[in-house]
Amino acid sequence: MSLAPPMTGSFPLTAAAVEQHVTADGPGAYALGFSWNNVFTVQNVGRADDALRAALLAQADAGRYAAFKFVATANAHDAFERECELFHQFGGLRHLDNTAHPARPSGAGWKCPHCTIYGIRDWSALAR
Ligand SMILES: [Zn+2]
Repeated sequence: MSLAPPMTGSFPLTAAAVEQHVTADGPGAYALGFSWNNVFTVQNVGRADDALRAALLAQADAGRYAAFKFVATANAHDAFERECELFHQFGGLRHLDNTAHPARPSGAGWKCPHCTIYGIRDWSALAR
């Protein structure tokens, strides 16, 4: 299951491209990697709880990845679930450069929709 809306990109991971395409600086999720023959390969996924544009500018400054896709979300929880979806969709720790499962903000009791790392999302639904 894929969450709407779809991701935008890919674009070169440069400050100029981020400033051009990421016009809102709210919550969102992103994928980093490279594009070759019009195929975008994901190497790292991430999210921003409140400043997607700033996060991508920092990634552009770090210079580790060549291209990015992104999606703005309505709130930080949606950004977390979208990051989780990307993390699992693109192979998790086995295939991505990410060194840990997407983290929750401190104090948030959010569950990953795709695994049980933070507990089962809707235990009552399973018990019915
Ligand atoms: Zn998970």
